[in-house]
Amino acid sequence: MTTHRIVVAPGDGIGPEITQAVLRILKAATVPIEYDKIEVGESVYLSGHTSGVRDQVWDLLRKTNCLLKGPITTPQGKGFKSVNVTIRKTLNLFANIRPTKSYAPFVASAHPGMNLTIIRENEEDLYAGIEHRQTQEVTQVLKLITRPGCENIIRYAFEYAKAYGRRKVTCMTKDNIMKLTDGLFHQVFSELAAEYPEIESDHLIIDIGAARLAAQPEMFDVIVTLNLYGDILSDIASQIAGSVGLAGSANIGHEMAMFEAVHGSAPDIAGKDVANPSGLLTAATQMLVHLGLGSYGEAIKNAWLCTLEDGIHTADFYRDGLSKEEVGTERFTDAVIERLGRKPRQLTPVAYLDRPISVARKPTRKSVQTLAGIDVFLSWDAQDRDPDVLGGQLQSLAGEEFNLVVITNRGVKVYPGGLRETFCTDHWRCRFVGRNDACRYQDALALMDRMTSAGLEIIKTENLYDFDGTPGYSMAQGQ
Ligand code: NAD
Repeated sequence: MTTHRIVVAPGDGIGPEITQAVLRILKAATVPIEYDKIEVGESVYLSGHTSGVRDQVWDLLRKTNCLLKGPITTPQGKGFKSVNVTIRKTLNLFANIRPTKSYAPFVASAHPGMNLTIIRENEEDLYAGIEHRQTQEVTQVLKLITRPGCENIIRYAFEYAKAYGRRKVTCMTKDNIMKLTDGLFHQVFSELAAEYPEIESDHLIIDIGAARLAAQPEMFDVIVTLNLYGDILSDIASQIAGSVGLAGSANIGHEMAMFEAVHGSAPDIAGKDVANPSGLLTAATQMLVHLGLGSYGEAIKNAWLCTLEDGIHTADFYRDGLSKEEVGTERFTDAVIERLGRKPRQLTPVAYLDRPISVARKPTRKSVQTLAGIDVFLSWDAQDRDPDVLGGQLQSLAGEEFNLVVITNRGVKVYPGGLRETFCTDHWRCRFVGRNDACRYQDALALMDRMTSAGLEIIKTENLYDFDGTPGYSMAQGQ
């Protein structure tokens, strides 16, 4: 078997002791990996690197493609960037994987049957951070969703389900409202689900999905969703599971991947031999499955489950009546090592494949893209904000090339035929559709020139394109 090379960053606080514990277990399980240790976090921040990562670390990561990272203490005060965000963005780690499981009856939990994994898109959505103040009253953020981004994360979710023997993948979006962006995510989900007939698939609107997750987490297996929804769902799941201290998480890219515990650096208990190494250990088993060393991950995870079952618990999850022996980091680590080769009796043993999880990039199919018109956004605060006044003026400026089909305010149709009850802010979207088949951008520029000369303030435009004849833009509410 080939030996894998990884990078290990012990981190801060309890990081070094739990990392040592995990490395000891990997060694005892004869996992074929070698590692280079690097320093990231507090000491690097304090030596003047505001990112918490030294430049030469990137070269090492590029050679190994895999990082097992202890928790980091972000120093108080301005100017320090989160190491996690820096690593995630720099290394194109598009998927965030957060398994959340209850280990009842050995660990107290309000949801004994809970065993789900949230697979969250990590790079796109509102987190692109493209925001503008456009008028006196209006700000906006751009929600960017790409087909390759959807394909990456959704294929990863199905491949993950295969590698971990999961039965179902649930997609959550709000595509009843955001038909193009969330609609694309849902559409790609349906397309890719067809390639995995052995895995059940379904879709829930995010609001009802989140409500069901909070009330009946047992009904979910693997959840795949967009960045913002995934961010919120992960915290709901962690909160209700009762096992945050035992959870690991992964950030996965096409080449690189980073694995870490969900908890922080716990400076209050650092160096006291009381920290629980389970979060980093579960992250390490995720790493082994990712690397195609699933059988090693399986042996370690099953030994760890036996340790939980035998009631050998660290102080953070020790409970009278449920636990038998309260132990420190070292003794807990020994207990896991002693149980290598055993399978749990009551908790379900895990079974992983020895096949790396990988997602191939595929080229996007090109469609014929034709200009159909233009949405011109205006800042306009005249004449009691009467849409009919604005509509009348724009009709006279539309010229022979365009029809003014609708004016909306905050997405709601206000012209022609709006209702006087609709609140109007100072931000107007005016939709002009070409009268001819060959709509030309030059004509749109001439239209905007006429509008500007008439004293109207254009704050932005969006081209209206058809793709293979299908509109690539949404209709107005009420249109
Ligand atoms: P924390 O998770 O470090 O600690 C919260 C509580 O849980 C503390 O009482 C701690 O003693 C306990 N705890 C955490 N992990 C434990 C373990 N493995 N075993 C036993 N007890 C454990 O959260 P915090 O106190 O809010 O943050 C401390 C530092 O960690 C901060 O600097 C924060 O920025 C950082 N942090 C880092 C990460 C990361 O690197 N991924 C994540 C969260 C917080």
